[in-house]
Amino acid sequence: MTAIEIPPQPRPDADTDGFWHATSHGHLALCRCQDCDTWQQPPVERCRQCGGPTSYQPVSGRGAIYSYIVVHHPAVPGFADHLPYVVGMVELEEQPGLRLASRIVGVRPDDVRIDQAVQAEIVALPGGEFSVPVFRPVDGT
Ligand code: ZN
Repeated sequence: MTAIEIPPQPRPDADTDGFWHATSHGHLALCRCQDCDTWQQPPVERCRQCGGPTSYQPVSGRGAIYSYIVVHHPAVPGFADHLPYVVGMVELEEQPGLRLASRIVGVRPDDVRIDQAVQAEIVALPGGEFSVPVFRPVDGT
């Protein structure tokens, strides 16, 4: 008998609570400086450029695949049914270098390409009350 595997669950803290609050409402938001408007990922309390205060602000969820890997082995509990699957670094259109690691869905691994246009979706993470972003290629790219 195989136990049902539950994926690792997020552990929100002061730096990431805004991210998880947004995804729980079906939105994607990232950390941004309130003084110079620079996006900060990973999130920080103070801007890496100017030291100003930061807060979470919505992003479009539109971006392009910067890099990716194809996962063939069930290294992370809860995703064995999805093998093989793609984990990508997506660069969001809001700012060069603003990248988020996420699963890439709706495409066969062999059809994933660098610079492929993608759009974020927010999906439930099994085993808890969290929702997470995934990225899906935009039609025609
Ligand atoms: Zn700043």
